[in-house]
Amino acid sequence: MTPRFSDLVVPATPRRTIILDIDGTLVADGEIELSPDTIAALGALAGAHDVYLCSNNVDPERSRAIAETSGLPLLMSRYRKPDARVISDLKVRHPILVIGDKYLTDEVFARRLKADFIRVERIVSHEDALLTRLTYVFDDAVFALAKAMNRFV
Ligand SMILES: [Mg+2]
Repeated sequence: MTPRFSDLVVPATPRRTIILDIDGTLVADGEIELSPDTIAALGALAGAHDVYLCSNNVDPERSRAIAETSGLPLLMSRYRKPDARVISDLKVRHPILVIGDKYLTDEVFARRLKADFIRVERIVSHEDALLTRLTYVFDDAVFALAKAMNRFV
């Protein structure tokens, strides 16, 4: 089963460099307020690992606000996931783990980094824009197709 981020347990060892998605993972798309459960889970994760927030969203101010609330560094790059160059300025000290809600963005990114990946249950909102919803439908369809094809190759 796909866990919600707030229910996720990442073993404390080995220590990891974690690249953590924001939209759909920590908050619904475009939102800014972290739930108490999410804040607690972020604290636990950051206590054991090097955690960096990384978002493809086009509003850096919102990402910065979330980084400030969570006390975590924000990985800024002119590239976007799944481009592996997103982490070119990052000092990676430990094996990388990518956590996110999207196949085409986060899981493909993890594969390009040859990193581990944990898919979390997406946080959605009834206020999600139509384009956001369509993106989710498309991503979930590609994910299902990719998993189905993996079974045959
Ligand atoms: Mg996301």
